[in-house]
Amino acid sequence: MKRVFLETYGCQMNVADSELMAGVLQRAGLELVDRAEDADAVILNTCAIRENAEQRVLGRLGDYAHLKLANPALIVGVAGCMAQHLRAKLLDRKRVLDLVVGPDGYRFLPELLRRAAGEPVAEVRLDRDETYGDLEPKRGPGVRAWVTVQRGCDKFCTYCVVPFTRGRERSLPLADLVRQIEHAAAEGFREVVLLGQTVNSWREGTDDFADLLRAVGTVDGVRRIRFTSPYPTDFTPRVIEAMATTAAVCEHVHLPLQSGSNAVLKRMRRRYTRERYLEVVGELRQAIPDITLSTDIIVGLPGETEQQFQETLGMVTEAGFDDAYTFKYSVREGTPAERIVDHVPEEVASERLQRLIEMARLQTRQRNASRVGQVHEVLVERPAKRGHLMLARTRQNFLVLVDVPRDCVGEYRRVRLTGTTGSTFTGALEHPALVVI
Ligand code: SF4
Repeated sequence: MKRVFLETYGCQMNVADSELMAGVLQRAGLELVDRAEDADAVILNTCAIRENAEQRVLGRLGDYAHLKLANPALIVGVAGCMAQHLRAKLLDRKRVLDLVVGPDGYRFLPELLRRAAGEPVAEVRLDRDETYGDLEPKRGPGVRAWVTVQRGCDKFCTYCVVPFTRGRERSLPLADLVRQIEHAAAEGFREVVLLGQTVNSWREGTDDFADLLRAVGTVDGVRRIRFTSPYPTDFTPRVIEAMATTAAVCEHVHLPLQSGSNAVLKRMRRRYTRERYLEVVGELRQAIPDITLSTDIIVGLPGETEQQFQETLGMVTEAGFDDAYTFKYSVREGTPAERIVDHVPEEVASERLQRLIEMARLQTRQRNASRVGQVHEVLVERPAKRGHLMLARTRQNFLVLVDVPRDCVGEYRRVRLTGTTGSTFTGALEHPALVVI
C-alpha cells in the first residue's frame, strides 16, 4: 500500500488535522494523491457538528462502496469527529469500512493502515496528553498557515458534541508552536491563523494567550496573525492588550454569540450573559477602534420562544456584527441538549433562521456600503472564481477583487474600495500600490 487520498469535511481544525495526517503519512514513505481512483487507501476526515455533515459523509461512503467493488483491495477509512462520535455504528458498516480512527489516533496512521489491509481496525481512544506538537504538518497551498494551538474543549456547551469527539482541552507547547510558525514563514506563508475550539484559553504554565500572540508576533515574516474561535469570556484584559499592541494581529475577531437571550444562553451552558458579551465587545472596540466582528448564531434550541429569538435579533444590531454565520439547531446524539424536551417545530426554526439571515445580511450590506472609498492594505490570495481578477483580503477580513497579475499571490497592495456587492468589495490600486516589507 503506497498511495493515500485524503478527503476533508468540516471546519478549519479538520483542514489542519488533514495537514497533520499528510505529514505523518509522507514521513512514513506514503504518497498523497489527488483522486480516490488513484489511491490504495482513502481516508475521509469527517465532521460531526451537525446531522447534515454526517449525512454527507455517509453518502460519500456509498460512493466508495462502489469503488471498492471495482478494487476490492482499496482501504476505506473514516477519521475525525464522526469516527469518534459514531464509532460503533460505523463499524457495523465494516463491509465498506476498514479503518475508523478518532482525532487522537493520527500519530499511528501508517501502522493502522497496514493492519487495516488484513482486518477492520478501530482506534478511537481519546488521549488527554496528545497534542501532536512535535509533528510537522504538510501544509496545503495558499498564503495562510493554519496552526492548531489547542485541541479539545472543556466548555461542554449543551448542544455541542466536540468535547465528546475531541476530548479535553490541551494546549500545544509554546516552543513547538514558534518552531512550526517559523517553519511556515520560511516556506513562504504570509498569514498565520491560530486554531483552537476556545483558542484564547490557550495556556502553558504561566504563559497565556497574550504571551502566545506576542511570541508569534516576533516571528520573522509573519505580518498577519488571526485566530479562531475565541470564547467571549476568555478575552482577559491582558489578551486584549496583546492584540492591540502586537502589530501583526489583525483587526478582526470572530466572536461566537450563539444566542442573545440570557435564558437560552443558560440552557446552552454558555458562560456569559448578553450583558457580559456586550462588555467584551466594548472592551475590544475601545482597545482596537477599527476592529470588525463576525459571529456564530444558533436558532431553535429546544424551548426557544419568539421573545427569546427577538432578543437574538436585537443583539445583531447592538453588537454591530459585520458578518454572521447562522445555523438551525441540530440535535446531536449524546449531548445534554438531546434530553431537553420542548423542541421548536422545524417550520418555526426555519422561519426564524430566515429572518435572522435577512437581518444579518442587510446589516453586512449597510456596513460594507459605508466603507466604500476607504483605503486598505490587502494580501493577494488567489484567482477569483470567475473572470481575471484576483481575490485579496484586508486585515479586517474583507474580501476585495483586484486587478493584479496572477504572480502577485502572496504580495501586499494598497487598494481603495470602489464598490461592494454586499459581502465582497471591488478595489482599485492606490499609488504607490506595492507594499514593500
Ligand atoms: S466552546 Fe462550546 S460550542 Fe465551542 S467547541 Fe466547546 S463545547 Fe463546543
